[in-house]
Amino acid sequence: MHYISTRIGSPILEFEDVVLTGLANDGGLYVPEVWPQMAVNHHVFNKDIDYSDLAFEIIRPFIEENCIEDIKLKSLINDSYKSFKQPSVAPLVQIDSNTWLLELFHGPTLAFKDFALQFLGRMFEHILTKRDKRLTIIGATSGDTGSAAIEACKGRDNLHIFMLHPLGRVSDVQRRQMTTVLDSNVHNIAIEGTFDDCQDLVKGMFNDEIFRDDLNLSAVNSINWARVMVQIVYYFFAVSRLNKYERPISFIVPTGNFGNVYAGYSAIQMGLNASRLVVASNHNDILTRFFETGDMSIMPVKASLSPSMDIQVSSNFERLLFDFYDRDGEAVSNSIKMFREEGTLPGGNKIHALANDIFSGYRTDDEGTLLAIKQLYDDKGVLVDPHTAVGLGALKQLKNSKTLNVVLATAHPAKFPAAVKQATGINPSLPDFLSDLYDREERFIKLKNNLGAVESYIRDVMSSKNL
Ligand SMILES: *Cc1c(COP(=O)(O)O)cnc(C)c1O
Repeated sequence: MHYISTRIGSPILEFEDVVLTGLANDGGLYVPEVWPQMAVNHHVFNKDIDYSDLAFEIIRPFIEENCIEDIKLKSLINDSYKSFKQPSVAPLVQIDSNTWLLELFHGPTLAFKDFALQFLGRMFEHILTKRDKRLTIIGATSGDTGSAAIEACKGRDNLHIFMLHPLGRVSDVQRRQMTTVLDSNVHNIAIEGTFDDCQDLVKGMFNDEIFRDDLNLSAVNSINWARVMVQIVYYFFAVSRLNKYERPISFIVPTGNFGNVYAGYSAIQMGLNASRLVVASNHNDILTRFFETGDMSIMPVKASLSPSMDIQVSSNFERLLFDFYDRDGEAVSNSIKMFREEGTLPGGNKIHALANDIFSGYRTDDEGTLLAIKQLYDDKGVLVDPHTAVGLGALKQLKNSKTLNVVLATAHPAKFPAAVKQATGINPSLPDFLSDLYDREERFIKLKNNLGAVESYIRDVMSSKNL
C-alpha cells in the first residue's frame, strides 16, 4: 500500500516508514492512497469470525508483504489480543431492544487505546529488529494514551519510551498505571505544568533536528496511521455480530481527537454497512458545533468529567477534510493554515453539507453525563465511565429509531471512579489483575517545564544505556 500526505511536499511512503515517521514532514498526516474494498472478502462478513482472524483480514491489505509475512502478522495480531481479558475481545452488551454497548475496555490499561497500541508496540519491535535500528519514543499524555503506550512498549528490545504527564493533573489510577511500570526501558516524566505544556515540549523536541536525529525519535499519538488502521477492525466486528437483524446501524462515538470516529469513517470507505456515525462530545464541543452548523471555531478548553475528550483541535479531522477536498493537498494546507491563524475553518458550510450524509454531532455536558451514568445504572444495573456516558447522552438526543445503535464504551468505569461515584454512590472496583495498583512501587522524575532540562535528562538516560 502507498501512503500519501494530506498536504503537499511529503514523499509517498509504504507502511513501514509511515509507522516509524508518524507525522509527515510537511505537517500533514498520512492516509492510504486507496481504500481496500472488503465486499469481495467473504470472511469479513462471517457472523462467527474470531476477532483476531477478522483483524488479519482487515489489516493485511494495508501492509506490504515485504514488511511482514502472513504467518508473522497473524501471530503478532494474536499476541496483541491475547492480553485482553475477554475471550471475544470486544463484547457487545445489549442494553435495550435497539442498543448495544461495544465494550472496548478489556485490554491491559482499561481503555480502547489498548487495541491500537498493543499492536503498534509489537509492530515497532518487528520493524526495528528487521532493520537493526533503535528508537526513542516520546509522548505527552493527559492519561489514557500514556498508560496504553507504556504497557505496549515495556520490556521491548530496541526501544525506550519517555512519557510526559502534567504533575498532579492526571487521576491517581491513570498516573499509577504509568509510574508502576518499572521496566528499564520505561521513563515517566512529571512536568511542572499543564498537558498543553507537555505537548509543546514534545513538539519542541521533534522540531530540534539535532536532538531528533541523534535519538531517532518517534511518536505514538493518534496521528500515527497504524493506530487508526487497527481501530477499523472493531467496527467490522460489531457489524458481523449484528448483521442478522438486517437493520442499518448507527455508531455513537465519544470523541476528542477524532481518531476513533475517523476509523469508523475508514471502515465505511472499505464497504462497512453502517448508516451513520454520531460524534459525541462533552462541553468542549467544536466538532458537534461543526456537524450542526458548519462552523468550526476554536474556543478555550474547559475541564470536564470526561478528560480524554477535553480537546479543541482534533488532529485527525484533517484526514476527513482531505477527502472532502477531493484529496487536494494544497486546499487542505491553506484551509488548516487559516484555521490556525484565525481560529475558524474557512468554507465550513460546503464541507458540512458533504459531511451530513454520514455524520451528526451531539453534546452532553457534565450534568448530562452524570445523569446518563445514573439512569443506565438504575435501569439496567450497568456501570459506565463518563466518556461512554457522553455517548449515551448523544443517543438520547438521536431521533431516529429505525437504526440499531452501537455506543462505543471507551473506558472501564473503574478508570474514572470519582464521576461514577458522584453519579451512583458506587465506587467501581478495579479488575483483579489491577487490584493491587495502589500498593505497587512508583517511579518517575519531576522536571521543570523547560525544553533544555527535558532534553538533557533524556540524553543522559540514553547515554547511560550506551545507546
Ligand atoms: C482517547 C479517548 C477518547 C477520545 O478518542 P479520540 O480517538 O481521541 O476521539 C474517548 N474516550 C476515552 C476513554 C479515551 O481514552
